[in-house]
Amino acid sequence: MGIDEKLSLNTYKVYKISHIIVDKEKCNICSDKPCIYCCPAGTYSLEKNDLIISFEGCVECGTCEIVCPYKKIRLTYPPLGHGIIYRYG
Ligand code: SF4
Ligand code: SF4
Repeated sequence: MGIDEKLSLNTYKVYKISHIIVDKEKCNICSDKPCIYCCPAGTYSLEKNDLIISFEGCVECGTCEIVCPYKKIRLTYPPLGHGIIYRYG
């Protein structure tokens, strides 16, 4: 089984409350918005100039917390643990 096929078998236990806390105070003056471009899970997006955080697919790499120039992103641990249930052996 190839890696793509294996990854497609993963399922996520998603907690209803976000483990990513973003203080959006500086987002309007953040010109590059690196959080949107750095995240491998596509967690951050813009909708009518508002930063949307779709935390459900986060793989907890920590990159967004590091690249935010104003240090306004805080990651916590999801209450359900890592959240991924591996279904392959
Ligand atoms: S990088 Fe930080 S300040 Fe910039 S848009 Fe993202 S959360 Fe907001
Ligand atoms: S921790 Fe990694 S995967 Fe999660 S939101 Fe930040 S950049 Fe994306």
